[in-house]
Amino acid sequence: MTNQKVRVRFAPSPTGPLHIGGVRTALYNYLFAKQHGGDFILRIEDTDSQRFVPGAEEYIIESFRWLGLSFDEGPHVGGNSGPYRQSERKITYRQYVNQLLEKRLAYIAFDTPEELEAKRVETSNFQYDASTRLSMRNSLSLSSRETQDLIDAGVQYVVRIKIEPEETVTVNDLIRGEVTVNSSILDDKVLYKSADELPTYHLANVVDDRLMKITHVIRGEEWLPSAPLHVILYKYLGWEDGIPEFAHLPLLLKPEGNGKLSKRDGDRLGFPVFPLQWHDPASGNISQGYRETGYFPDALLNFLALLGWNPGGDREVFSLNELIDLFSLDKCSKSGAKFAYKKGEWFNHRYIQLKSNAEIAELFLPVLKNHGVDAPVEKIIKVVGLTKERVNFVEELWEQTNFFFATTTVYDEKSVKKRWKADSAERMQELIDILQPVDDFSSTHTESIVMNYIESKEYHAGNIMNAFRVALVGEARGPHLFDIVEIIGKEEVLQRLRKAIIELK
Ligand code: GLU
Repeated sequence: MTNQKVRVRFAPSPTGPLHIGGVRTALYNYLFAKQHGGDFILRIEDTDSQRFVPGAEEYIIESFRWLGLSFDEGPHVGGNSGPYRQSERKITYRQYVNQLLEKRLAYIAFDTPEELEAKRVETSNFQYDASTRLSMRNSLSLSSRETQDLIDAGVQYVVRIKIEPEETVTVNDLIRGEVTVNSSILDDKVLYKSADELPTYHLANVVDDRLMKITHVIRGEEWLPSAPLHVILYKYLGWEDGIPEFAHLPLLLKPEGNGKLSKRDGDRLGFPVFPLQWHDPASGNISQGYRETGYFPDALLNFLALLGWNPGGDREVFSLNELIDLFSLDKCSKSGAKFAYKKGEWFNHRYIQLKSNAEIAELFLPVLKNHGVDAPVEKIIKVVGLTKERVNFVEELWEQTNFFFATTTVYDEKSVKKRWKADSAERMQELIDILQPVDDFSSTHTESIVMNYIESKEYHAGNIMNAFRVALVGEARGPHLFDIVEIIGKEEVLQRLRKAIIELK
């Protein structure tokens, strides 16, 4: 498939919210497409009407909008290879089903679910294949007359692929190399169901990848076992010259590394496994999302990019454009990637540091508003600058900064007990007296005044500073004390000192 424009697809089934593993699959597709100047296509694989969940497609589209990964084609943006919802492509699939039946590469089967179940009970490891198909009820074991009569009588049927046994099937995988299987391990998979006039995943996937001119199929490892069947289907449909390149991405594993990451791991350890909050329409349950938890989309993408791929070296923070430049499938690992969710928090922390104080202040504004604070933007920007290195999420800034905005100070008992000494009230009165005439309340100026004073009196600096901090902050924490002094300003500093003297007897 050389010399062709790169075209990749992300092909979710709308059976619920998008899992974080799906986001990573989509991201790798996106990076690969953009690096090659190719197209990134969204295809909704909604052929399983039993598992269809209303709202799931909208959720998927909204997730990518938030993440900033835009599709070149898809149900929401259109394109020349549509429709992009498989349920709207019934007629197309039926043509290929007919073609396979005519060429006797597929056959019609009438076995009911009960009959199939009975077979499974009777024969352990029962597989519908060359060794068993003639003992089943299908167009190979029945006469063409009987077959036609059943169809005419309206009996529902499925169409199964006819796999020839003992043949070597090779899948070329860009991550795993050549994967070879013996066709005898494959069963005669169902390709089509008359009941809903829809194909199953396998047929729809192959037909659409072909008709949409997909050049690279980049998807999760869980689809690797289906790839040999897909290769056979390409051949049966006469498309062996156009089989796309495959790349099966490593699994995302539990943070502990034992087994596949699941929603339960997120619930157990307190991290989201979905990009956005999800309201389950059936159960009414609400699941947390990365967006609502306070993650930046670029931090989340950076975190996900490195789960299963690494450009080499120690660097970890990359912009989306840098990821596009650096990404390569041959640097993807074959083995699963532990979902180290704490690393995700670390990335969000890094991104807070990388963003300007003004940008973070803007995001902090609504949080302040919720706490009834209405402060000048300039002040908020300064406060953010002093405290952002202490948080992973913007929301956490409130806890780190409330004393900058609160008019009444609440004193933490423990801090008072430890830091407010018998002579503290007296010392704080002296601070009031020396600061009263000062006009320049900049951090460095007030610091030199207070420090000179302490030195001249030969006071214990720690004791004074501790008491001063309790008076201003209410407890033993916060950034550099004189930075706080500068930001809250003279009037407020003096007032808090007076209040502490009265209240902390
Ligand atoms: N519909 C499949 C899914 O939900 C697509 C798998 C593939 O990419 O072939 O993941």
